[in-house]
Amino acid sequence: MSNDRVGELYVVAAPSGAGKTSLIRRMLEAFPDLAFSVSATTRPPRRGEADGEHYHFLERGEFQDRVEQGRFLEHAEVFGHFYGTDRRHVETLWADGKDVLLDIDVQGAAQVRATHPDACQVFILPPSLAVLRERLTGRNTDAPEVIERRLREARDEMAGCLAFDWIVVNDDFEQACAEMRAILTAWPLRRERQRSAQSDRIRNLLARGANGDTIEG
Ligand code: 5GP
Repeated sequence: MSNDRVGELYVVAAPSGAGKTSLIRRMLEAFPDLAFSVSATTRPPRRGEADGEHYHFLERGEFQDRVEQGRFLEHAEVFGHFYGTDRRHVETLWADGKDVLLDIDVQGAAQVRATHPDACQVFILPPSLAVLRERLTGRNTDAPEVIERRLREARDEMAGCLAFDWIVVNDDFEQACAEMRAILTAWPLRRERQRSAQSDRIRNLLARGANGDTIEG
């Protein structure tokens, strides 16, 4: 991470079926300066997924080479496939003045917590396991045995939610969107950020008397 980056780093994790993808899509529409980091994966594309848009689809060997070259900001094995965030891609987005949002799993989030402690980490919870099962079944993209495995893994994934800064329960979708918007709006205003971003303003404001005169001494 370069020390002079200005862009924020947002991590969003959730068990599959919690509605994370829809929530993220909404946030990308609501915040024009927010950019999605397209991950690399060894998972084969699902129907409708485009290379470079949803993921960069890689062969295992190519993924492993990139791991060894240190090209991933974080990477993890999820459901038997490898996933990783391209470090240079994120840095390019920051250089373009963007805030960057990562849609990653809890293992990746833990790695980011260690390397980027100032990242904002949000966990999306489903209201219940029953709702989660319903959503996974209704989605029709995965085979039944995959859904059962994902439900088991969802429990493990959710066990990590208390390590996150923010927890949003996606029961009512509009309410969850409002909560996410509140987080993304408030996060850049935290003291650590404003101390440097607003240092001139704060100095000026404190250097003037109530009538605008410069305070001497
Ligand atoms: P899916 O295969 O359903 O698109 O994603 C499966 C899981 O992998 C999701 O929890 C998703 O957030 C996670 N994932 C996607 N990209 C990355 C990544 O770059 N790094 C990590 N650690 N997890 C990822």
